[in-house]
Amino acid sequence: MAKKSKKRNNRKKLIMAALLVLVVFSIRGRFMLMTGAGVGETPQQVVETPAPTPTPQPTPSIPQPNEYCTLVNRANPLQDDYDVQTRGVVNNGVQTDYQFDVRVVENLEAMLADAAAAGHPVLIRSAHRTINYQRMLYNNKINDYLNRGYTQAAAETEAAKWVAVPGTSEHNLGLVVDIVNQGYTGELEQYFEEEPLFTWLVENCADYGFILRYPKTKEAVTGIVYEPWHYRYVGKEVAKYIMENDLTLEEYWEAINNG
Ligand SMILES: [Zn+2]
Repeated sequence: MAKKSKKRNNRKKLIMAALLVLVVFSIRGRFMLMTGAGVGETPQQVVETPAPTPTPQPTPSIPQPNEYCTLVNRANPLQDDYDVQTRGVVNNGVQTDYQFDVRVVENLEAMLADAAAAGHPVLIRSAHRTINYQRMLYNNKINDYLNRGYTQAAAETEAAKWVAVPGTSEHNLGLVVDIVNQGYTGELEQYFEEEPLFTWLVENCADYGFILRYPKTKEAVTGIVYEPWHYRYVGKEVAKYIMENDLTLEEYWEAINNG
């Protein structure tokens, strides 16, 4: 009897031991799954999902035009009754009489303030112009050439290279600013491109939604002489696309229209 009972006890012990081993292995197995640890195991195989392969970044797709992308040039004149609500621009804390489209004037003000903060205080020379004022500028330029002995037709042709024909000036839109260094009193001249302010503008203007509208190498495209002082608001996305790809607004629209 005593022998039999001992045998039964031993069997009980064996079962208990086996159960204990099972429990320990089961817990250890779970722990290994959670941590990914384990001897001779391929690390992270169970837990990790493969990182997505980064897709290569080709030429960014063309951003769609917005309400500030209107193309104005000799072939695309503004209607005579074109109207825009403007307000005076605050230039680096100073209120000016220069008018700009009220919807986006804060972008211009941010650009002017940041240029000043970077050590390049700005002087505005022109912003929004009415079509009548544009007419006066154009006629003045024609008279300059007439006084130099040009014929009327030749004077008009030459004047149109420097001053937009009334109704065809971007300045009529209220989305354009002509800027030079603070303190500069001369005419708008192409040597402005040698100024650090110009370099800063070319590098940063797109961050505020502006483009250099009449680049040096694109006179044949724009029909306007190189104007390093003339900046046009088109919205940040479009501005970045145009500046990064060395385009003009004409070329942007051509790309959009060609799909
Ligand atoms: Zn201008």
